[in-house]
Amino acid sequence: MPNYTANTRDMQFVLHEVLKVSETGIPGYEEMDRDFTEAVLDTAAKVASEVLAPLNRVGDAEGCVLENGVVRTPEGFKAAFAAMKDGGWTALDCDPDYGGQGMPYLLNCAVGEMFVSANMAFNMYQGLTHGAYSAIHAHGTEAQKRTYLPKMVSCDWTGTMNLTEPHCGTDLGLLRTKAEPQADGSYRITGQKIFISAGEHDLAENIIHLVLAKAPGGGEGTKGISLFIVPKFLVAEDGSPGARNAVSVGKIEEKMGIHGNATCVLNYDGATGFLLGELHKGMRAMFTMMNEARLGVGLQGYAVAEAAYQNAVAYAKDRLQGRAVTGAENPAGPADPLIVHPDIRRSLMEQKSFLEGARAFTFWGAHLIDRAHRAGDAAAEGLISLLTPVLKGFLTDKGFDTAVLAQQVYGGHGYIEEWGMSQFARDARITMIYEGANGVQALDLVGRKLAQDGGKHVMAFFEMVKAECKAHDDPRMALFTEALKAASKQLQAAGMFFMQNGMKTPNAALAGSYDFMHLMGHVCLGLMWTRMAAAAHAALDAGAADPTFYETKIATGRYYMARQLPACAMHLARIESGAEPVMALAAEQF
Ligand SMILES: Cc1cc2nc3c(=O)[nH]c(=O)nc-3n(C[C@H](O)[C@H](O)[C@H](O)COP(=O)(O)OP(=O)(O)OC[C@H]3O[C@@H](n4cnc5c(N)ncnc54)[C@H](O)[C@@H]3O)c2cc1C
Repeated sequence: MPNYTANTRDMQFVLHEVLKVSETGIPGYEEMDRDFTEAVLDTAAKVASEVLAPLNRVGDAEGCVLENGVVRTPEGFKAAFAAMKDGGWTALDCDPDYGGQGMPYLLNCAVGEMFVSANMAFNMYQGLTHGAYSAIHAHGTEAQKRTYLPKMVSCDWTGTMNLTEPHCGTDLGLLRTKAEPQADGSYRITGQKIFISAGEHDLAENIIHLVLAKAPGGGEGTKGISLFIVPKFLVAEDGSPGARNAVSVGKIEEKMGIHGNATCVLNYDGATGFLLGELHKGMRAMFTMMNEARLGVGLQGYAVAEAAYQNAVAYAKDRLQGRAVTGAENPAGPADPLIVHPDIRRSLMEQKSFLEGARAFTFWGAHLIDRAHRAGDAAAEGLISLLTPVLKGFLTDKGFDTAVLAQQVYGGHGYIEEWGMSQFARDARITMIYEGANGVQALDLVGRKLAQDGGKHVMAFFEMVKAECKAHDDPRMALFTEALKAASKQLQAAGMFFMQNGMKTPNAALAGSYDFMHLMGHVCLGLMWTRMAAAAHAALDAGAADPTFYETKIATGRYYMARQLPACAMHLARIESGAEPVMALAAEQF
């Protein structure tokens, strides 16, 4: 049975020594001193390892069951959900006007990492609710906010996001679900939505579905789409769940992973819906919370891999196979532990250096979201908008790869369900697909984000990297700054290639977009490692009480710069080969 222990030490390092949160001046960050964040993180870590982690395998093995239109979640989920509610974990960063605790989104992410590592499928019930909460909070009328938000903050009512239909996922302009205006101002919603996470379950007394649908007069494509609130139970005058609405579960999907989360086909048969935000501006309403939602999925990608990594380390220390080439390290035993072998070390270093970089990148992204929302910082808003597809696409691709690397450490036992490593790989896989498949994230980055506001944000990013390289006039940092400088130049060269070729050969930019997303991901993690190495040196120079933590940090960073960052050169070479090798075959030649 896999174990999970939250790495709160590393979280504290990122919060206080890299991001220096309590010095930022961001409203709401005043309280974020070491003691406060330690108290929150330690309590959450206990919930993660004692309440959620033991249910991870139960959820995987049992899955959700649909019986007579009702979905039953796995054994233990109800009690755990109640414990999460009672502990106030669902309300952490929500608006105090609606019962939330008003803490920074960054702190919510740190806690979220632990909950996802412990049990991703379970955490999605709350995660989806948070997404729906954010949409209503940003676009709802005062009455809608009063009706729905307090119940969603407490998770007495959960939420869902309904975009996908059988014939459209990426291309939402094709969607067919209809919204017909009624005399009382409501709408009749008719259509079928598929793959709806947490679409039906037994954890809450009501489910608030947010549904994209087409109302008359909006025109073709995505322009005609509006967003609607469609409660499972219509809310009665006194605020309690009233009459059953005409929305039902067609089936729950059999799927590769996240079995503990009910992925539903939802049929809307003239269900009563209420417009959320402006008519025909549904996509805009949905997109205002995209940065958070996509960062949340990027976080899922590495958080699941973190749990897999922890178990791979334990196994590598325990499993005896072969001898170290440099001489027996366990002479009293029949063989040495796996961890003596350089190839196992390579695997663990790949995992560790990615995971710690990913954590820093995600926390930095969450901090930018707080800076944008709480301090009204337009530059932070622009930067996080640029980085969002990278956070989502790069961290989930690498998160899945990392979970597979961890599984590989177990050899054949990694493939056998009993050890739980297969679940990590299966669960991590969906993060590359939903919330915009990763190929589409790459298109968003290259097709939209690079040129956004005249390229201002990407230029600011390059300037930031340049400044970071210049900031460390310390020979111990040369390995970091030189590698980062080279990678950043490769990223700029790739951007230049798109500028020179993208207009005349659009396929050249699109054929290179995936490589660009990865190239930029590596530069972001290189930037994080440079910042972390500098912070670690500073702590050692100041006589830190736990030097091993910082020495480990620096050595792990050196691995990333030496062994992972060179991938940038490969990505650039692929990008510069243009569209020709990619598009050389006609469709019938495949
Ligand atoms: C377990 C699970 C949970 C989900 N939860 C939800 C949910 O809660 N709510 C919800 O609304 N949806 C949900 N989804 C749906 C998910 O978001 C979609 O599956 C996803 O957006 C992709 O859409 P699609 O499956 O229709 O693939 P398609 O849009 O058909 O895409 C297929 C492939 O083509 C690529 N592609 C598409 N267009 C282009 C293009 N122009 N250029 C290059 N490549 C392209 C994509 O990257 C993808 O790899 C869930 C799906 C699953 C499996």
